Amino acid sequence: MASDERFEALLQEHRRFAPPPDFAARAVVADPTIYDKAAADPEAFWAEEARRLDWFEPFREILRWDPPHAQWFLGGRLNAAYNCLDRHIQGPRRNKAAIIWEGEPGDSRVLTYDQLGREVGKFANVLKRLGVKKGDRVTIYLPMIPELPIAMLACARIGAVHSVVFGGFSAEALRDRINDAQASVLVTADAGWRRGNLIPLKANADAALRDAPSVRHTVVVRRVGDRAPVDWHPERDVWWHEAVAASPAHCPPEPMDSEDPLFILYTSGTTGKPKGIVHSTGGYLTGVAATTRMVFDLHEEDVYFCTADIGWVTGHSYIVYGPLANGATTVMYEGSPDWPDRGRMWAIVEKYGVNIYYTAPTAIRAQMRWGPEWPARYDLSSLRLLGTVGEPINPEAWMWYHEHIGRGRTPIVDTWWQTETGAIMISPLPGITATKPGSATRPLPGVSAAVVNERGEPVGPGEGGYLVLTRPWPSMLRTIYGDDERYRAQYWSRFPGMYLTGDGARVDEDGYFWLLGRVDDVINVSGHRIGTMEVESALVDHAAVAEAAVIGRHDELKGQAIAAFVTLKESVPASDALKAELKAHVAQKIGALARPDDIFFTAELPKTRSGKIMRRLLRDIAEGRALGDTTTLADPAVVQQLKAQYEEAEG
Ligand code: ATP
Ligand code: MG
Repeated sequence: MASDERFEALLQEHRRFAPPPDFAARAVVADPTIYDKAAADPEAFWAEEARRLDWFEPFREILRWDPPHAQWFLGGRLNAAYNCLDRHIQGPRRNKAAIIWEGEPGDSRVLTYDQLGREVGKFANVLKRLGVKKGDRVTIYLPMIPELPIAMLACARIGAVHSVVFGGFSAEALRDRINDAQASVLVTADAGWRRGNLIPLKANADAALRDAPSVRHTVVVRRVGDRAPVDWHPERDVWWHEAVAASPAHCPPEPMDSEDPLFILYTSGTTGKPKGIVHSTGGYLTGVAATTRMVFDLHEEDVYFCTADIGWVTGHSYIVYGPLANGATTVMYEGSPDWPDRGRMWAIVEKYGVNIYYTAPTAIRAQMRWGPEWPARYDLSSLRLLGTVGEPINPEAWMWYHEHIGRGRTPIVDTWWQTETGAIMISPLPGITATKPGSATRPLPGVSAAVVNERGEPVGPGEGGYLVLTRPWPSMLRTIYGDDERYRAQYWSRFPGMYLTGDGARVDEDGYFWLLGRVDDVINVSGHRIGTMEVESALVDHAAVAEAAVIGRHDELKGQAIAAFVTLKESVPASDALKAELKAHVAQKIGALARPDDIFFTAELPKTRSGKIMRRLLRDIAEGRALGDTTTLADPAVVQQLKAQYEEAEG
């Protein structure tokens, strides 16, 4: 009998990779008893991590849990910028590189901790002069340039709440986010580089501000200069370089309550309208500092490179706050991975001797499509650890990453987490955990996760269900900005006392977690529930396929039929014979139940600006509906074109 809570398609995966002995021998976390110790007393575990930060006033209580609201490290006072800067500047890291920045056109800049500290102090004083006070919101709409983390840390220094809006967003998306946060200052740039073209940030900002009356001042970074003349509103606009030139570097850090908000950040909008997630100061910083050290096995001399954009939570937590709180050297890159050619990421790894590389499955699948000859041209021997985040990684993409980037030597950490969780929740500890391609492995020490059925009861090994987090954790979101009701309804109403992630998962006999895709995307074929992930992974497993997105479309007979949108590797021609072969391949890998009813070849899939496949738009296309919210779409032309092609081909 088909039960409702099961995902029944099971892709088998038996490969296993133990931590290499030389890696394990000097790993930051090498003692597996850490899991049991943390489970025995999670609050004590997190308190110990929190005490690694510098507090102006120590906390008196670890956790107050008044579901669904948690407070962590009560009574404690600290400042996030102080923890990311001053405490390193006062010690031997003063002249260590904090940020290594690589511009898209090939310019570069290195900021030591001392230099970064001065820049942050100067800009903090600029914000003060513009009237920004503790608790005020500042929207930051910048390309990936050093002024972006400088502006964030300057906000943190004076207790203002930053809201970073990804620089690729439109004027409309920016306007909505400014209005939602009611920001008083907007920080932007004249323009940004993207594949050799200019993105008119200032012009977008001007358009957004026509309808965003809360903003009193705009600070404009001059990134491209004469190439992008800007309209100027003298009563509102100031140039960054002019403002900081007249600004003192010394700015005392505001002692913030542990629970004071550090920032607001909007989710990717993969499943619907983006949510303004609010993060705290003490709990958030504890979570990101601890996970950066443990998951990325951070050593003092490491060069660490996360390829995310700071406009997403991955950039907040693992380019800015996590690495800098640990005194690490963090690389940031302004541009596109295929500019000026498809080897750019590997050129950066070679140029700076990157040791730790953290990217997204979508970026790996793009590399698979382009072919292994690109990374093969570069010296990647400095790499000792690889990571992924953002979507489930298909086992074949994991293997490709392992072979062609890690050259078979480096562990891979597949890290599951969300904007809402603030920090990584499920991931290997690379010195301890044997990995299986496609599994994020186990909840980190101090984190409690479970997979439950419709009634909120834990399911057995191999059975699919809802991924939930069963205890509060320090870096958890505190609310949705301005909408606590939505916070309760979205995350806490389905299963009382448990945080609903919205993702489907199963746990295998070894206690390893396998993410199956969004619960909203689950396909129901004749009463059998099938996760999108496993069908997509079976397709990507075929040598011709680079990427696949699978959805259920309405079907009179079966309830839903499986439609697959497939991107082939560049050297492979599309054909009807290949469609038949792919259908057979899925049936053979998973079972006849999961055989796609139709396969549609496409050069591009609709993705969010953070690179995630938007299956809900594919569903709209396959069911002939008008497209849902498309404001977070990376390239609206892709989905319009796809809709037209689909309608022509499928009638
Ligand atoms: P929205 O909530 O607005 O629909 P979103 O969920 O894509 O957008 P993010 O917070 O950026 O916004 O993404 C978190 C989601 O990304 C997770 O819920 C999960 O679906 C997916 N994800 C992230 N990392 C992984 C991973 N390692 N394995 C599987 N899925 C992952
Ligand atoms: Mg989400």
